[in-house]
Amino acid sequence: MKARLSALPRPAHLAGLDRYEPGLPIEEVQSMPGVGRVVKLASNENPLGPSPRALEALAAALPKLHRYPDGPATALRAALAVRLGVAPSQVVIGNGSTDLIDLLARAFLGPEHNAVISERAFARFGQVVRARNGRARLVPMRDSTHDLASMAAAFDERTRLVYVANPNNPTGTWNRRREVEALIDALPPEVLLVLDEAYFEYADDPDYPDGMEYVLAGAPVIVLRTFSKVYGLAGARVGYGVAAPEVVEAVDTVREPFNSNSLGQAAALAALEDRDHVGRALALNRTEKTRVDAELRRRGLTTLPSLGNFLCVDTGRDAGLVFRRLLERGVIVRSLRPYGMARSLRLSIGTAEENGVFLDALDAVLAELPSD
Ligand code: PMP
Repeated sequence: MKARLSALPRPAHLAGLDRYEPGLPIEEVQSMPGVGRVVKLASNENPLGPSPRALEALAAALPKLHRYPDGPATALRAALAVRLGVAPSQVVIGNGSTDLIDLLARAFLGPEHNAVISERAFARFGQVVRARNGRARLVPMRDSTHDLASMAAAFDERTRLVYVANPNNPTGTWNRRREVEALIDALPPEVLLVLDEAYFEYADDPDYPDGMEYVLAGAPVIVLRTFSKVYGLAGARVGYGVAAPEVVEAVDTVREPFNSNSLGQAAALAALEDRDHVGRALALNRTEKTRVDAELRRRGLTTLPSLGNFLCVDTGRDAGLVFRRLLERGVIVRSLRPYGMARSLRLSIGTAEENGVFLDALDAVLAELPSD
């Protein structure tokens, strides 16, 4: 038998596609020469860790690992439905919300259809649409914020999806109630709005719209949320979507039958009930985001207003270089070069102590690198 594998060409339709670049793992940075302690502020995780109740639920679920999970995640759907005031038939569970971002493209985009996406929106939107059929219609931002009016103007007869992250990652910026409602009013009958609210729980602006109101009012909207952020379960991979039963049914049709695993389901159910843990995470984020923001400004750097658990900061220098130098000091953040923001970093809000380590490392790096 001939070894032919190396002759397999890369599928032509994947040409030019980029992969999602996750934050560097702690272990990888720990093995770098000269690096001692590592502080990861790169993936917008909850610095307090998982809820203790979720850990207990995980331990209790372990002996049943030889069984397949409950495919539709019946108990979790039911609990979310009660919490959100919708029917269980309006909830779908994903292997993280990124799974749902992809499943929506699979369910709603035929070969001829397109999706409207903001430039510098969460990178995964463009990636899944490009992998699906290459037809992502990118609309420039205005003031580093999704320009929803221009996005509505970009709809054509082949548009089926419009993706909006509110607040957006990596910018942290958000769209106000009035803008989102104008977008919903402008949706042609066959277009579904994917409203990604991964950071919903952190969003404390009075003019920030709760997408669930639109779902409850019967608008063509699917709201995506996740257990990866404030619930501290990024490793368990549980996200959910809430929409009309017809939309949920379409996603259920294309999802892998066991897309959410039994440990993730058990952990999410327990975490949902731990309001104290959520409250602690929100309080920490509020205090520390304000403090870190002020500290960055005190150093002459500019930040974007953020409703998430992270800040987007213009370092006034090559962000790739700042990123590298911070890494050498054991601090992992995210360079926003891939988003075309050559001088900006995204920084997750950690514990007070972690943020202190970051600020000290930043001082050393800024002293080494003159501003542009
Ligand atoms: N949407 C946005 C806007 C995000 O920032 C993230 C996490 N980086 C996700 C979705 C995905 O989260 P998960 O798949 O872990 O639920």
